[in-house]
Amino acid sequence: MRLSQMLFVTLREDPAEAEIPSHKLLLRAGYLRRIASGVYAYLPLLWRVLGKVSQIVRQEMDATGAQECLLPQLQPADLWQESGRWETYTKAEGIMFSLVDRREQSLGLGPTHEEVITAIARDMIRSYRQLPLHLYQIQTKFRDEIRPRFGLMRGREFIMKDGYSFHPDSDSLKETYQDMYTAYSNILRRCGLTFRAVEADSGAIGGSGSHEFMVLAEAGEDEVLYTEDGQYAANVEKAVSLPDEAIASPFDAFEKLDTPHTPTIESLAKFLQCSPTQIVKNVLYQAGYDNGLTVLVLVSIRGDQEVNEVKLQNALTQQAAEYGAATLLTLAVPDETAQKQWAAKALPLGYLSPGLSDSYIQTPAKTYAPKFLRLVDQTAVELKNFVTGSDESGYHVVGANWGEAFEQPKQVVDVRKAQAGDRAIHDPTQTLQTARGIEIGHIFQLGTKYSQALGATYTNEAGAEIPLVMGCYGVGVSRLAQAAVEQSYDKDGIIWPVAIAPYQVIVVIPNLTDAQQVEAAEKLYEDLKSAGIEALLDDRNERAGVKFKDADLIGIPFRVVTGRSLKEGKVEVVKRASRESVDMPITEVVTTLQQWIDQALNS
Ligand code: ATP
Ligand code: MG
Repeated sequence: MRLSQMLFVTLREDPAEAEIPSHKLLLRAGYLRRIASGVYAYLPLLWRVLGKVSQIVRQEMDATGAQECLLPQLQPADLWQESGRWETYTKAEGIMFSLVDRREQSLGLGPTHEEVITAIARDMIRSYRQLPLHLYQIQTKFRDEIRPRFGLMRGREFIMKDGYSFHPDSDSLKETYQDMYTAYSNILRRCGLTFRAVEADSGAIGGSGSHEFMVLAEAGEDEVLYTEDGQYAANVEKAVSLPDEAIASPFDAFEKLDTPHTPTIESLAKFLQCSPTQIVKNVLYQAGYDNGLTVLVLVSIRGDQEVNEVKLQNALTQQAAEYGAATLLTLAVPDETAQKQWAAKALPLGYLSPGLSDSYIQTPAKTYAPKFLRLVDQTAVELKNFVTGSDESGYHVVGANWGEAFEQPKQVVDVRKAQAGDRAIHDPTQTLQTARGIEIGHIFQLGTKYSQALGATYTNEAGAEIPLVMGCYGVGVSRLAQAAVEQSYDKDGIIWPVAIAPYQVIVVIPNLTDAQQVEAAEKLYEDLKSAGIEALLDDRNERAGVKFKDADLIGIPFRVVTGRSLKEGKVEVVKRASRESVDMPITEVVTTLQQWIDQALNS
């Protein structure tokens, strides 16, 4: 491609709309244009990158026996009503764009495709003989993200590869899951990314298995906890660890103490000269279920620990049936306005005890559960003679015990947040380290959640009709492209990994009025193309300095310059990543570049 004929506009200054390096660089280098919040035009250079990423994804998926298809983006509401996700996705979470057509039918724009694919499986899969089966697609997804940001990292319209597999049983699912683990590792390695596969939260449906593929970068929105020995890595949402040992409590008699101005654990520990590990802290949450019921939740946890809200959400989702609901819609710490809706009088916040009286809940409407749901974290259950609130502002109790001052915990949960510095469970001499990660891929053992909801069954060898067991697997294709830049750039611009660079080589003519330079460059450009090398020719009427800057900025791996050494039959060849430069006989350029490219693609 000739640069003179391309839509090629680069910017010298960082655009104000971008915060992180990769977003700035893609905008400056002319890969990307913002059209609306979280909505981007993928310009020709970027489209080539996306094409290459997609091709690698496709090859690795096909190698596992998965088959490509293309599912509709317009999805009827009924399917989502069948799975029970319509309300959650369009209202509670509000992540799905929805519309009403001229026939008054509700439709959504696909944020994901479990419903559609399960409906197809319900119609077309009858027998165990058709299993296992894995279909995937590469397509634009729509999600009305609350905070679209960082360009392609979190868009409202973005490209995803999503795949769904169907199995007779969970052993078969596990095999495909393992194949996907390998395929995803191959995809990221081939795209030139440094990554880590981590254990991920799989929601309330079960801990059966889910991994995220994280590209490690400061700009990542996720936190990953891992150990140096390489044996453990998990998203902080899911991570487990051993908390520090609690220090034995110095208070051996139950007493209520005047503890003025100690609403925080820190201030209380200082005042009582005790360790936060001797304190039980009680955190109030408000859970909203899909049947309209609000439940007030009192979580008791050891004072030095934090509540992991993802784990809490999962625990509360599991309680849904107890409250006659199907699922949890919202979880929040109730602010003052929210408290006014139900609290009979002002709550002694900062001084709550695990036994806070249910009489605080006073609401005529039937929309609130009349009693607190009291969940006690494992860390708090183990404490003896502990310190905690007294339900009176300014006062705490010390020397308290479960089964004495407070009733024996009925519901013991693990809702503790693992933290960097904690000891690892597999080996307590290892401590958890923290890193930021960009989630590029997610593989998930779904089980029968959707097949049961939609009635997608098959007949097994014994003739019984049972629900299909499912897995699902996603890669953010457009996010991956930008993550590659986030991991590979310098002060002058992007440094594309060869495998996903929009072009492999750029031939630069420093001086367009020099006929010899032009002729040599044109010939090289043609020879490269004939050899199957993807080449750009910078034949613009610009100063040499501008051309070199642009070549660096757009990040093409190899640059060939038909300059001064032409007299000796040579051209300058520069590697973008290392900036190594050699004067090379023109006759050797094509074969050398071919070698370098092959090497890079096969490493
Ligand atoms: P996140 O936690 O980042 O919101 P998710 O867990 O909701 O992502 P999945 O439903 O697992 O995402 O989707 C599969 C992949 O699609 C993700 O791993 C990610 O790479 C990509 N992806 C998800 N949301 C977006 C988005 N808004 N913009 C770009 N890529 C996205
Ligand atoms: Mg995910």
